[in-house]
Amino acid sequence: MKFDSFAIVDWSGGNDTGPRPRKDAIWLGLVQDGYELQPQYIRNRIEAEQVLSALIEQELNANRRLLIGFDFPFGFPAGFARELTGKDDPFAVWEWLEKHLEDAPKTNNRFDLAGQINALFPGIGPFWFNGLSREIDQLPRKDIRNGHGMPEKRAAEAMTKGAFTCWQMGGAGAVGGQVLTGLPILSRLRRAFSDQIAIWPFEPLTKPVAIVEIWPSLINPVVKDAEAKDELRDAAQVRLMARAVSCLSTTDMKAMLDVVAPEEGWIMGLGHEDKLIAAASELRPPPLRDDCFALPAGVDWTPVDEALAMLEQRLRCVVGQETVPLTDAQDRILAQDVIAKRSNPPNANTAVDGYGFAFDSLNKSAQTLPLVEGRAAAGAPFAETVPVGYAVRILTGSILPNGVDTVILQEDVNASATHIAFNSGIKRGANTREAGEDVKAGDLALQKGRRITPADLALCAATGSSELSVFETLRVAVLSTGDELVEPGTPTGDGQIYDANRSMLLSLIKRFGYSSVDLGIIRDDEAALKQALDQGAQQADLILTSGGASSGDEDHVSTLLNAKGAMTEWRVAMKPGRPLALAVWDGVPVFGLPGNPVAALACTLVFARPAMRALAGEGWQSPQAYNLPAGFSKSKKPGRREYLRARVRDGSVEVFHSEGSGRISGLSWAEGLVELPDGAVRIKPGDLVRYIPFGNF
Ligand code: AMP
Ligand code: MG
Repeated sequence: MKFDSFAIVDWSGGNDTGPRPRKDAIWLGLVQDGYELQPQYIRNRIEAEQVLSALIEQELNANRRLLIGFDFPFGFPAGFARELTGKDDPFAVWEWLEKHLEDAPKTNNRFDLAGQINALFPGIGPFWFNGLSREIDQLPRKDIRNGHGMPEKRAAEAMTKGAFTCWQMGGAGAVGGQVLTGLPILSRLRRAFSDQIAIWPFEPLTKPVAIVEIWPSLINPVVKDAEAKDELRDAAQVRLMARAVSCLSTTDMKAMLDVVAPEEGWIMGLGHEDKLIAAASELRPPPLRDDCFALPAGVDWTPVDEALAMLEQRLRCVVGQETVPLTDAQDRILAQDVIAKRSNPPNANTAVDGYGFAFDSLNKSAQTLPLVEGRAAAGAPFAETVPVGYAVRILTGSILPNGVDTVILQEDVNASATHIAFNSGIKRGANTREAGEDVKAGDLALQKGRRITPADLALCAATGSSELSVFETLRVAVLSTGDELVEPGTPTGDGQIYDANRSMLLSLIKRFGYSSVDLGIIRDDEAALKQALDQGAQQADLILTSGGASSGDEDHVSTLLNAKGAMTEWRVAMKPGRPLALAVWDGVPVFGLPGNPVAALACTLVFARPAMRALAGEGWQSPQAYNLPAGFSKSKKPGRREYLRARVRDGSVEVFHSEGSGRISGLSWAEGLVELPDGAVRIKPGDLVRYIPFGNF
């Protein structure tokens, strides 16, 4: 039930409204593949049918799933279909209306048709409100209906405030004319694209286009705000509703569409207005553009920091949101700030077992206080007021009773059944906790973008959240390329080596908390590689390739990405590392990593790691590094940044004895990287160097 594009149509039963955009006409709101388009004014239904057909065709050709919402009922109150057509099938009504409605830009027979239908029912009605000057047989002007036997509303309308019934043919806001003129067009579209369109909630939404019923009044507060800024009401309605449905989390979308209403239909989002309103208020940046990795012309070797700054600027969250209960939220990434619904602690309470009293009861010397009857315990508060001069037995966690502001530890008193005696010296408020001293209701408890820890769950629970809005887990696909590579465990031929990178990268991705998609080893062959990239773009939000990213004869990754993925070769001034091939394949970013395992890991940690955080909704973050004394000597020329395989022993940093980029044993030996600056350095033992443990990336 994931859609790429979202169209919302504000229908009109009236005649052509002329060339100039105005209200009470047909309006189309569209979010196309992540881009919000300007609301489109459509002057009549003939044009609307053409615009919608063209839109459906365009989205199908582009392989995008499209959800279209119309603001009129898809069915009549229960029983109508059978009376009119002899079947309980809403589509039989659609077809009946399609056959009987005569529609043209400047005239249509909707009032006559309503009268004609009324004639099939006993008594007067169910349709009423003749909006024409001439009389129409069987269609009353006033609501004098009776005996027609039809329910006044659908179950959905019974749940709404202010929804018009489909029986009223005229007057401001009436929907009768919209249904009679709208359903014939839906019926034709459904037939024209019979294999591609599913109508909700009558059919399962398994086809690329879904047509649903919506009602813009569900997001009235946001529409009113837009109107207050002089936007035409109808335009604001379709624009904001399209945004709302496009921004819904998968869970919310599912919940809204999970409806059984076989004959009458239903209004999408009914009962979920808060979610729709929140989604309508959410402005999202558009998806990645094909050219998003383009570099300024004439750039030679790009410094690491500049490359990172460009990634930071160009990448952003690409995953959807869903709501999960606390029990499923660990390690997920918060999609929305968590605001404390409740203070912690919610009430002033005692931190110890002891006796509570008003501080003003005390003298300056040792004293005795009589005990009131009863006690205060956690979950069983003391209901009365403790008078000045008295004390009450009180247990840890219990709410401070009225009249108590100070608690003395039970170990500091001598107690009888009726009195306690103790020494002077206790302070006002001793051993108590203030309400909200930890977190106050309304405070920010946790910030959007945070990866949720076990302790975060305690904080959420204590402050009254039982479910959290989180990002869907980023999916990262990995493939290795090269004719020399074979799967570990299989026999090797001449010149073949085992694929070392893929298992390393797949396991890194899991460590980072993302889900991994294994695309396997791909031969140095363009067709095979293309197929793998197509699959990756379908199944993942990011693709990592290793090998073949330079510009040699067998570097098919770069050849292909160049041809189709708007690739840019990022020549980053860094060692280890060779050019990084960055591209966008069917909207999905591709990081073409070098084949050498050492370079592949370094480039993943330095570039792909922060990129993944950005794509996953964690925002841009640099790894935490530590300045520690070097246990080695090294001279380095200026012009590029260097990363050395390193680890810490006895408080100083050791580096691997070889810098060879094929030395996988050194990767395994290391526990982190030393980052040496772009400029020249001469490091002696004891000098501070920048060390980043692998776990901090
Ligand atoms: P390439 O980037 O394709 O030119 O590869 C550079 C070096 O890395 C070559 O020696 C490749 O054999 C080696 N290499 C490429 N991919 C892998 C891999 N997945 N595992 C181990 N070595 C690899
Ligand atoms: Mg190769």
